[in-house]
Amino acid sequence: MSEGPASPRTEVKRLPARGRYDRETIDAILDEAFVCHVGFVIDGRPRVIPTTYARAGDTLYVHGSPASAMLRSLKRGVDCCVTVTLIDGLVLARSAFHHSVNYRCVVVYGTATEVRDPEQKMEAMRLLVEHIVPGRWDDTRWPTAKELTATTVLALDLNEASAKVRTGHPVDDDEDYALPHWAGILPLVTTAGEPERDTTGSPAGEPVVPDYVRRYRRP
Ligand SMILES: Cc1cc2nc3c(=O)[nH]c(=O)nc-3n(C[C@H](O)[C@H](O)[C@H](O)COP(=O)(O)OP(=O)(O)OC[C@H]3O[C@@H](n4cnc5c(N)ncnc54)[C@H](O)[C@@H]3O)c2cc1C
Repeated sequence: MSEGPASPRTEVKRLPARGRYDRETIDAILDEAFVCHVGFVIDGRPRVIPTTYARAGDTLYVHGSPASAMLRSLKRGVDCCVTVTLIDGLVLARSAFHHSVNYRCVVVYGTATEVRDPEQKMEAMRLLVEHIVPGRWDDTRWPTAKELTATTVLALDLNEASAKVRTGHPVDDDEDYALPHWAGILPLVTTAGEPERDTTGSPAGEPVVPDYVRRYRRP
């Protein structure tokens, strides 16, 4: 059973039946995707920046260079809006007007806080790596103290979030169903291609592609 919106601004008003507010739906979308868009205002003007993220419980982590204008703004407590989008298919209607996209997306509002504790920062780094390539953290050199210092990690609470989901076939006007144009859904999925080994610097070890790379797929 879907819960209600967490705040007035998270209430889906346009096509409200597509709105979802339960954490199960929100978390599943956040855990399947790994790119978000962070919107905020800088010097009085709006800006939207794409970046990777990871989720742990009620927290979304983003990270990057301390020089990043996005991270510098957010760590000052600037209001932000983070969106995540998954595309499930193209919806081809008989009329151009009713073409659509099957999607699952999340919008989160809030203010981020900086993660300063080195242990928590390291854990956030682990989450970021594992969220994108599960199994990779234990098969990589971990960040040094210097590298951790050279990374800003921010945490955003998920308590003001909404999801919006479109599924199913096109919805055409009654009189258009008799038209000859093909109509339906063209499903789209994200799949991994053939792994390409980097041979720079005479790499040690067997040139065997690890299982977690060979079998890579999004949840
Ligand atoms: C791939 C894709 C393509 C789209 N194409 C179009 C398009 O061409 N034209 C168009 O008008 N719309 C499109 N949408 C829908 C769009 O995201 C908005 O939901 C819609 O435009 C209504 O905007 P609004 O500002 O009136 O939302 P409102 O319903 O007024 O928004 C109120 C609140 O609802 C929540 N909300 C709104 N939209 C979303 C969302 N998508 N995901 C999660 N929460 C949401 C937010 O918390 C927001 O603050 C598309 C969505 C996706 C994912």
